[in-house]
Amino acid sequence: CADARFPPGLFNMSSLSTSAVVHRSLKVDFPRIIGSKGNYVILEDGRRIFDASGGAAVACIGHGDTRVHDAIAAQLKKISYCSTIFYTTDVCEKLCRELVDSTHGVMKRAYIVNSGSEAMEAAMKLARQYYLEKVPPEPSRMRFIAREHSYHGTTLGSLSMGGHVTRRAKFEPMLLDCVSRVSRCFPFRDKQGSETDLQYVTRLADELDREFQRIGADTVCAFVAEPIVGAALGCVPFVPGYLKAMKAVCDKHGALFILDEVMCGMGRSGTYHAWEQDDAVPDIQTLGKCLGGGYQPIAGVLASKKVIEVFEKGTGVFVHGHTYQGHPIACAAALEVQRIIREENLVQNVSNMGGLLSARLQDLVASHPNVGNVRGSGLFWGVEFVMDKTTNKPFPSSLGVAFEIAELGLTNPYSMAVYPSSGTADGVNGDHIIISPPYNILATDVETIATTIQRLIIDYFASKKA
Ligand code: PLP
Repeated sequence: CADARFPPGLFNMSSLSTSAVVHRSLKVDFPRIIGSKGNYVILEDGRRIFDASGGAAVACIGHGDTRVHDAIAAQLKKISYCSTIFYTTDVCEKLCRELVDSTHGVMKRAYIVNSGSEAMEAAMKLARQYYLEKVPPEPSRMRFIAREHSYHGTTLGSLSMGGHVTRRAKFEPMLLDCVSRVSRCFPFRDKQGSETDLQYVTRLADELDREFQRIGADTVCAFVAEPIVGAALGCVPFVPGYLKAMKAVCDKHGALFILDEVMCGMGRSGTYHAWEQDDAVPDIQTLGKCLGGGYQPIAGVLASKKVIEVFEKGTGVFVHGHTYQGHPIACAAALEVQRIIREENLVQNVSNMGGLLSARLQDLVASHPNVGNVRGSGLFWGVEFVMDKTTNKPFPSSLGVAFEIAELGLTNPYSMAVYPSSGTADGVNGDHIIISPPYNILATDVETIATTIQRLIIDYFASKKA
C-alpha cells in the first residue's frame, strides 16, 4: 500500500514523482533483496534485515515457510486456475467457511479477491446492491460517509472512499463524489481539553449523526472506517466504545456499517478481528494482508446475515466479478497460513508479545524529545515524531522524517525494517513509523526491536542536530 517507488532501471519512471514524500525516496538506491527466510530478508550484500514491519504489515508468519510452499505446489498440481463464473472449488469454499467461522458465524459469506483495494470496491458495490435487493428497494441510497485521513486503497473507488490527502490530490477530479467525510478518531491530536473517552466518542457519534441528517439519511448506503487506521495515520486504534457508538448511529439511520480490516485484521490487533474488541459486528467487512501473509495476493469481503438474507430473497447474484477472484492457488496459500496461525496459537502470541512491545515502546515517549506518541494494538504499533513535545507540532512533510528513519533502519548497525507512514503530508498529521512484525516473534525479538528502534531514533535525530 506504499506509494510507488520506482527503482531506477526497472521502470524508467523516476521522473513521475507523485508527492513530496515520494520524491525524496526516488533519490535513494533501493536495496535489492535476494532472499527471505523466517523473520529476515537478505540483501544483495549478504546482510540480514529483521523484518519488523512484515513488509507492509503482511508477513504474519514470516518468510519462506516451506509448509506454505508445499500447499501451493500441491494445489498447483490439482487446479491451477478456474473461472468462478462456471465453477467452484473445494479450496475456495473451505477458505470462505474458515473466514465465516472465524466470526463465530455472525458473518455469513465470504468473497475472495486479489487485493485490499478490490475488496473495498466490492464492499462499496455490495452495499449499494443490498439496497436495490431490499423489499421495498431503496434506490436513493448511493452515498457513503467515510473519515478524514483514512486509507482504503488506491483504485478510483477505494481512493474516493479514503481521506488520504496526498494520495488523492492528483486524481481529485476523477474521484467519486458520493463520499462525504466525518472526523477521524485520533485522541492524541483531536481530544479536547479534559474530554473523557466517553465524551469524545459521543462527540464523534453526534457528528456522524449530523452528517446523516445533513446529506439526507435515506441517501446513505454505509459509514466506512478502519478500526485501527494504518497507512494514513500510523496505527491509530479506536477509542473504547467508538465502533459500537458509530454502528448505533448507522442502525438508527438504516445504513450499513462497513469496517475495513485489510491492515489490522486476521489477528494483527491481538484478536482475530479488531471489531471483536469493541463488540461491534460490521454488516460488511474487508480483509487483506494477513489473510495470505504475502505468499499470494489475496483479500476478502465478509457479508453479514442481514446482508446475505436480502440477497437470498432477492436475485441471489452480486453483480461484480474479477477473472482471478477466488483463485485456487491463492486460496490454498491462505488456508495454510491460517492453519499455521490457528494451530500455533499465534493470535494469542500477538496479544502476549504486543503487551511487551507496547510497554517497551511507551518508554520511547518518555525518553526521547521527538517521540510524541506511541499507539497501537497487538503487533501493530505506530511511533509518531514531533518537532516539539510541548506543542506536538509535526515536522514539515517535505523533510520526509519517517522515510529517512526507515531508510536509516535498513543500514548497519540497525538492519531492521520499519514501515514509514507520513500521514497526509499536509503538515498536520506528522510522521510515523509502523512496527508490525510477524506473529511468531519471541520476547527476545521484542527486546531486539525495541532497543534497535530506540538506537535508530536517537542516532537519526542526533545526526540532524550535528
Ligand atoms: N484498506 C486498508 C486499511 C489498507 O491499509 C490498504 C493497504 O494498505 C488497503 C485497503 C488497500 O489494500 P491493497 O494495497 O492490497 O490494495
